[in-house]
Amino acid sequence: MSISFSGDEEHIVTSTTILPEDSNEGSLRPRTLNEYIGQSKAKDNLSVFIKAAKMRSEPLDHVLLHGPPGLGKTTLAGIISNEMGVNMRITSGPAIEKPGDLAALLTNLQENDILFVDEIHRLNRSVEEILYPAMEDYAIDIIIGKGPSANSIRLDLPKFTLIGATTRSGQLTAPLRDRFGVTLRLELYDPDELTQIVERSAGILGIEIDREGAKEIACRSRGTPRIANRLLRRVRDFAQVTAGGKIDKKVADEALTRLEVDKQGLDSLDKRMLRSIIEFYEGGPVGLDTLAATINEEAVTLEDVYEPYLLQQGFLTRTTRGRCVTKKAYDHLGIEYLGQQQIDM
Ligand code: ADP
Repeated sequence: MSISFSGDEEHIVTSTTILPEDSNEGSLRPRTLNEYIGQSKAKDNLSVFIKAAKMRSEPLDHVLLHGPPGLGKTTLAGIISNEMGVNMRITSGPAIEKPGDLAALLTNLQENDILFVDEIHRLNRSVEEILYPAMEDYAIDIIIGKGPSANSIRLDLPKFTLIGATTRSGQLTAPLRDRFGVTLRLELYDPDELTQIVERSAGILGIEIDREGAKEIACRSRGTPRIANRLLRRVRDFAQVTAGGKIDKKVADEALTRLEVDKQGLDSLDKRMLRSIIEFYEGGPVGLDTLAATINEEAVTLEDVYEPYLLQQGFLTRTTRGRCVTKKAYDHLGIEYLGQQQIDM
């Protein structure tokens, strides 16, 4: 077995995108609402909607799930399909290239089935327009023929539920957003919830871990189950080589420090972002695009993936004039804090 703890991996290990090493995510996915840890608000609402739909023997209303990557949107869609006792077809916005692709998916659904569209904000306009009548009237309009002899025929669809997932609900067009009956926002998880997730995953993977070890991983997982599960597997590798396979606080701390995931879960890009605001913009405010150009990252990535955790942890604030770092960020980076500039909140 080769284990690498080289420095340039530190950024990847806390990435929220799916990596090849996450390929066994499926086995860790909870299958029922009871097994799904945290997100109590979303869960409570969903369980009412699911019960009501089942009592009426109707499909569930269309559901929009939004929140940063890795928080459990796909998992929740799977749970809905399981709890409703129906099949789910999975696709994603960029995968549906032409209106015909979507029409084929829709016409192949069975009554009450679920169509899960990940990254729904990336659907192209012509495809999206097919969705409007499909969601509203369970029908699609198909054009047959070309030019003056073209004819539009309406095709009825089985009643189905569309579940859309997005990291950017703001980018959804209003007509699409308005057609979802249920909108659920997933929040970053707190350390207690992530500790439970780490313990649950360790149980499934047969990893020996104590409460303090699980907590250590949880606190350094950026509020994200996908990262918690990945760090658990990385720490397990380390524990196998150095500690007879058992993970406790000390082993977890050593492994994560070697992976350059710091005590607060910040990785090199987080720190680069905070440092740049301090060094080049005197702590801010600085506009997102300017900041993105300064550190050579995409503004979308900073906003969707990095900011939510930094905001939640109080390292960053958002003002009308841009992003500002807080005293906590100066302290964490060991930079002297000389007082805050004038900030209009
Ligand atoms: P998203 O679709 O939001 O990117 P996923 O649904 O793929 O996220 O979740 C990533 C991983 O995190 C899953 O494999 C699952 O094991 C784990 N996970 C997510 N949410 C929870 C939860 N509430 N409880 C336990 N595990 C979870």
